[in-house]
Amino acid sequence: MSELPVYERFHSWQGEGYHMGKSAFFIRLHGCPVHCPWCDSAGTWHPDHKPQSIKRMPAHDLADEAFLACPEIVVITGGEPAIHDLIGLAYQLRSRNLPVHIETCGAYPIMGEMDWITISPKWAAPPIEENLERADEWKIIVEDEHSIAKWCEVLPLKNMDTPVWLHPEWSQSKNPMVLHSINEWVKENGFPFRAGFQLHKIFKSDQEDKRSKPEASLSHLPEDS
Ligand code: SF4
Repeated sequence: MSELPVYERFHSWQGEGYHMGKSAFFIRLHGCPVHCPWCDSAGTWHPDHKPQSIKRMPAHDLADEAFLACPEIVVITGGEPAIHDLIGLAYQLRSRNLPVHIETCGAYPIMGEMDWITISPKWAAPPIEENLERADEWKIIVEDEHSIAKWCEVLPLKNMDTPVWLHPEWSQSKNPMVLHSINEWVKENGFPFRAGFQLHKIFKSDQEDKRSKPEASLSHLPEDS
């Protein structure tokens, strides 16, 4: 029986990217070896946030819960979901006619049949070659005014035929230099670049489902943790 370590699952809507605004059931899994300094899902991996016991759930129970919510899509996220074997979960969801989306850094092979793959590359673990072709959209986290140009040096973003969303890293989402860099990049380059945002954070839509957990951001930790 396929079981997965579940951090939280909740019904909300997709706040980012091509499917923004769609009713979505989120399944957030434990574990991430990437350790970004600004991670807002630190509860899935950081020792100061991680619970002592981790709940494991059978894939068919997760799929049943998702089905009962009647969402338009199901989003598997983390942590880094692709470190897990998702074949069983994807199968259970798709057999209930639920489109399966995954949000991954792209550094690991994706196990399981997905209907939509969002790759948000991270410096500590860049995407592997096989995932470059599989992405349906890209999400670049813009940490400073040089981020976009730096990513364009290591990934063929300008040649992508899928959207490349430029999201301000949340703690920088009011930084005028970061916002200006996105504004200018989109205006100068056009497709595939698109300005993006984490709209759900403004609506606090996740938190209205009592199964969701408060955001576990590394910015809430003391500096020496
Ligand atoms: Fe957090 Fe994602 Fe970075 Fe992992 S890859 S540390 S979950 S932001």
